[in-house]
Amino acid sequence: MNDQAQILDGKALASEIREEVRGYVERAVRQGHRPPKLVAILVGNDGASETYVAAKAQDCAEVGFDSEVIRLSAHVSEQELLRVVRSLNENPGVDGFIVQLPLPAHIDEQKILFSIDPDKDVDGFHPVNVGKMCLGLSSFLPATPAGILEMLERTGVETEGKHVVVIGRSNIVGRPMSILLSRNARPGNATVTLCHSRSVHLRAHCQSADILVAALGRPGFVGRDLVKPGAVVIDVGITRVADASRKSGFRLSGDVDFEAVAPVASWITPVPGGVGPMTRAGLLTNTRRAHQMRFPNTDLE
Ligand code: NAD
Repeated sequence: MNDQAQILDGKALASEIREEVRGYVERAVRQGHRPPKLVAILVGNDGASETYVAAKAQDCAEVGFDSEVIRLSAHVSEQELLRVVRSLNENPGVDGFIVQLPLPAHIDEQKILFSIDPDKDVDGFHPVNVGKMCLGLSSFLPATPAGILEMLERTGVETEGKHVVVIGRSNIVGRPMSILLSRNARPGNATVTLCHSRSVHLRAHCQSADILVAALGRPGFVGRDLVKPGAVVIDVGITRVADASRKSGFRLSGDVDFEAVAPVASWITPVPGGVGPMTRAGLLTNTRRAHQMRFPNTDLE
């Protein structure tokens, strides 16, 4: 048993990645190319979505990407949104774009995501990219699981032959995480158990995990009792919890009870400062990749 887990420092690793991406942009521009461009479509004015999009724009500015936010009214028609997506598909000055989710109820989310050109789908949500991911082919990977893989790799956490338990089966986090870690790849080659809201024996599964990924959105769900001593614990959860002592009126809470789990885990991600920054870095990496697909000779130095 450990005295205290080591911190998987997403903030520091993401800063390292941004530095690398900035170097790529400088090389591309020196070679006469335009910088990468990322566009975000924001429908309505959901507070959390506004925050996420602003953070993405800030990241772009930091690494030298061009970025743009296309703001549409919450009442925009599906037809109009499809028209905007098509115009971005056809615009050679745009490498990648995202449609910030969730969308208003009157818009068919799937229809919109399916209309994005897979070569510009830097969120990695299009079925072509999901299919390629499942087949182990090169593709845009969803930013959160890709960020977690990057974090494990850069920290030197071994996944091969390990038992990984993922809690949560969403299309953007849990399910792709389980697929990626079970692929014949590095990182990967793990034996993966995917738990969800209908799982029985969840506790026993978690207790046998060498690597536990909590992505269910229930603050503090993973306590000491769910964690095998020496396990690596990845906390994806971000839930706003009311906190009168904060100016904002809330604080961010993860799915893991950090104080209780850190003394028994070998590695653990904090919230904030763990998976969140790696997710943001994942989007930059995908946009860089989209730019490289357009300018394949860049980055040969
Ligand atoms: P989601 O609501 O789409 O899915 C939650 C999943 O958890 C479901 O598959 C459900 O079956 C499972 N679940 C719910 N209650 C459960 C229980 N009691 N036992 C077992 N499984 C249970 O959520 P999501 O979009 O995958 O996000 C999960 C969490 O991760 C949220 O807190 C979200 O805010 C956060 N998130 C963080 C980042 C990041 O960058 N750090 C990115 C995406 C999502």
